Order: sequence, then C-alpha cells, then structure tokens
Amino acid sequence: TARAVSAVTSSGQPVLILKEGTSQTKGKEAQRNNIMAAKIIGEVLKTTLGPRGMDKMLVDTFGDVTITNDGATVVDDMDVQHPAAKMMVEVAKTTDKEVGDGTTSVVVLASSLLDKAEGLIDKNVHPTIIVDGYRMAAEKALEFYDKIAIKVDPLDRVMLGKIALTSVASKLVSEKYLADLTVDAVLQVAQKQGDEYKVDIDDIKVEKKPGESLMQTKLIQGIVLDKEVVHSSMPKRVESAKVALLDCALEIEKTEFDAKINIERPDQMKAFLDEEENMIKDMVERVVKSGANVLVCQKGIDDVAQHFLAKAGVLTVRRAKQSDMEKLAKATGGRVVSSVDSLTKDDLGYAKLVEERKIEEDKWTFIEGCKNPRSVTLLIRGGTQRVVDEADRSLHDSICVVRDVVQKPRVVAGGGAPEAEVASELRKWAEKLSGREQLAALDFAEALESIPLTLAENAGLDPIDILVDLRARHQKGELWSGVDAFSGKVQDMTKLNVYEPLSVKEQIVKSAGEVATMILRIDDVIASSKMKEPSMPPKG
Ligand code: ADP
Ligand code: MG
Repeated sequence: TARAVSAVTSSGQPVLILKEGTSQTKGKEAQRNNIMAAKIIGEVLKTTLGPRGMDKMLVDTFGDVTITNDGATVVDDMDVQHPAAKMMVEVAKTTDKEVGDGTTSVVVLASSLLDKAEGLIDKNVHPTIIVDGYRMAAEKALEFYDKIAIKVDPLDRVMLGKIALTSVASKLVSEKYLADLTVDAVLQVAQKQGDEYKVDIDDIKVEKKPGESLMQTKLIQGIVLDKEVVHSSMPKRVESAKVALLDCALEIEKTEFDAKINIERPDQMKAFLDEEENMIKDMVERVVKSGANVLVCQKGIDDVAQHFLAKAGVLTVRRAKQSDMEKLAKATGGRVVSSVDSLTKDDLGYAKLVEERKIEEDKWTFIEGCKNPRSVTLLIRGGTQRVVDEADRSLHDSICVVRDVVQKPRVVAGGGAPEAEVASELRKWAEKLSGREQLAALDFAEALESIPLTLAENAGLDPIDILVDLRARHQKGELWSGVDAFSGKVQDMTKLNVYEPLSVKEQIVKSAGEVATMILRIDDVIASSKMKEPSMPPKG
C-alpha cells in the first residue's frame, strides 16, 4: 500500500513535504511492482517472437482494428499507464528507431533479465550488485557477439537477400520476392562514403494501396504522389519533364479583414474581375516562362489558374505533402520556391517521365527517371487494407536490416544461435568472477537463452528439451546451432540461411541491459495525485 510522504515532529505535528494525495512506494515493494509491470509487457510480446509467433489484434478507442506481429506496433498501440511498463515501451521504440528490427527480442530479453533479478532480490542480493553484474555481463556479451560475427560484402545481394528474408519471414507470404525488392531499394539509394556505405531510408518512399496482390508490389525508380493531375484537359504524360516545385498557392488571397468595393456601373464590375484574372494569368505566365512543363504545388490552385495552366500544357498536381515536396526536390534536383515571382529556370528539377496512372479507383502521379536515381518508391499492393498495412510494417523492418548490413557489414545467424553461443561463453567467463556479481552474470547468460527458448515455445516445442540439446551442442563448439522453428529441431542456422545484422543484436543487448538496470535501480516511486478531470460543459 502507498503511504503519504510526510514526517512527524517531536511535538507530534505532522509535516507535509509533498502535496496532499501524493503517494509513495518504497524499497522492495517498489522494485517488485516495477518488475511486475515491466514483465507483463514482456509476457504480452513473447508469443509474437519468431517465424512461428502469433499475431496480436489491437482495437483502439475508435474501434479500429490492427492485426500485427510487429513488437514496436503492438507496444505503440497499447495504452500503457504504469511508468515501468512505459520504459519497456520506450526501449522497443528506441530499438525500432535505431536498427528497425529486434523490437520484440529487446522486450523479451529485458523482461527475462528482470525476472532473474527478482529471484536474486528474493535471495537478498542487493540490486546494486545485480546492476553491476548485469553491466559487466552486457559488456562481455557485446565482445562475444563481435567475436563470432561474420564479415560480409556490403553489396552482396545474396547475403542481403537472406538478411531481408529472415526479417520478413515471420510475417508475410510471397516473402522471397518482397525481400529481394527491399534489397534492390536499399542498394539503389546507398551512397559510398569513403570505404563505407550510407543509406538514408527516407530516400525510400513507401506508398500502399489495397488491391491486386502482394506479388504486384513494385519498386518504382522515382516518386509516386497519391494525387491526380488537377485539370482534365492537362497532359497526362510529359516526357523530359522540367518540374517546378511551389509551396505557395496559385490563387488570389482573400483579405483577412472585410473590405467593401463600391461598384456603380457594370463595366467597373467587369474591370474588377478582369483584374483578378490578370493577376492569376500573370502568376501562371511566370511558371510557364521559367520553362516548366510540370508543376507540383504544395498548396491550392484555383479554377482560373487551372484553366490557364491547362491551356499552357503544364501537367499540374496540387496539395502535395510537404515531405513529398522535399523528396521531389532531392530526386529531381529542383528547388522548392515560395513565390511564383522568384521562380527561375534554375529552380526546376528534371525527370524523364511524369505520368498519371490509374491505381484501382484512384489516379496517382508517377515521377520517374529522376536526375538523382537515389530516390525510389516501394508501391505496396495486397488483398486488403490490413494486408498492405502489415506488409508495410514488415517491409520497414526488412529495409532497415538491409540498411544495417550495408552500413555495417557484419552478420550472425539467427534462431537463437548467437544468444546460445554468447550465453555459453558468458558462463565460462563468469566462473572467474567473485562473489555475488557472478550470480548476476550467470543470470544474464540465462536471460539471453530466453530468445531461443521463446522461439522454441512459439513453435510448439518443448523448451527444456531444446535448451538441453542447444547447450550440449554449443559445448561441443557448434557455433551456429539454433532453433529451427519449422523442423522443430536444433540445427545449424547458417545452413538454413537465417541471418541477422550484428548491429541489431548489439542494440538488443545494450538496450535491454540498460532498461533492466534502470528499472532495478529505482527504490522509491513518488507519484503526484492525479489531476482532477476538467469539468465538462453541461450536455446539450
Ligand atoms: P523481433 O521484433 O525481435 O525482430 P521477430 O518476430 O522478427 O522479432 O523474430 C525475430 C527472431 O526470429 C530472431 O531471433 C530470428 O533469429 C528468429 N528467426 C527468424 N527466422 C527464423 C527461422 N526460420 N527459424 C528460427 N528462428 C528464426
Ligand atoms: Mg524481426
């Protein structure tokens, strides 16, 4: 139970230090609560791990349904309240941001670390000792991962394909085809910097549209805007396009204040309207004069402007997203200009072909063969909205792991093999530690085995049998023995072509270690009283 934060003076007067309603939980009780809350997140995510993992169905407050197997999405959509549980959510998100994959693993590992720590706390090992032991073990684990990692060629399509396939395998059908598409996409945007390659995944635009099937998903060499050409008599196809990019509206701005114009004679009325038309005509003329035959505008374009643009044969798209404007600028080599007056031919971008195409019931504009080929769009198709949404999430993971390897060309096998190996090495190393840190280090090793154990459990296998087999083989020096989720046996995972980036594994160990120790170091939870609900206006 929580106590109010207060003290009592010698004369018996209570001294309130914090506001009334503030509650405090201390010591073991606080630790236990935090560990429990964090472990619950782990329990929820656990069953989604690996190729035989189950999906979660999430229903939000509006009743919208998401079906997913992606750890980051699950925690993101769960409305978590408890602060320690929130820390677990954060760690999944950070992992997603840093390496794009391994979000479930990091939560499973952190949860397992906390579970073991709870056991040690019960045995009266002080949390500080556990934290120290975990820290040392995490550092050593990183060394062992580094030692076993295999160096690869960053442009080796076959290896990258295996990496991509491992990451999408748990989630999609038509995997191989999609995995290869992501490899193509990443290699297309990769840029050499010294001896290394850099990949900005923002250069890969992802668009999705339900319809057809996943196999119709395509990589487009350029940018796709989910916007149609604004006027029916404009050209729908322009070759050797010179593209103007505007982020101002092509219309007469309405004044912010009310203005009255007194018109006494009909010709005054006409003069007024003509003047408006002339202003717009002038704007359009400036666009045409710059030499542009395609215009992409971030804001609105009124009917009169559309009419003149159509007459001048300029393919025009309006209300493009700002992010798309930036991508277009990068891809076409053009510049986004904020006023028609300052538009010149130097601001124009170039594309071999701009064309409006029909995608299901919508018309989209494709801008292909750009000046800078380092800009591609992955156009995801699939039976239903849910299918394309889940494909989007899996392809994101896949793009990220391929990027990870292109940027840092080191890989390990999957299926829990590296975790089992590192655990086995950690045990040998921990022997040499003294005292209670050794207990914590040994527990760290065991926690790493939660990955192959969970993979086995999710494949419907007996986790104990698998663990015994796995340990024995790693003892014998079978480096890449892991859990083959499909045959249900312990196998050499390199033979099954299951590979993962070293950077994902490193991130998992670092982040899980950090969040577990952070939670363990908390021995006092002081919670302010909740704010009162704001009073609602009366109904009706
Ligand atoms: P995460 O969000 O952590 O990436 P996933 O659900 O994608 O979680 O599962 C990743 C785990 O599944 C990794 O440990 C990976 O090695 C493992 N895995 C992938 N393919 C296989 C396979 N064919 N057999 C066994 N394990 C696999
Ligand atoms: Mg994954």
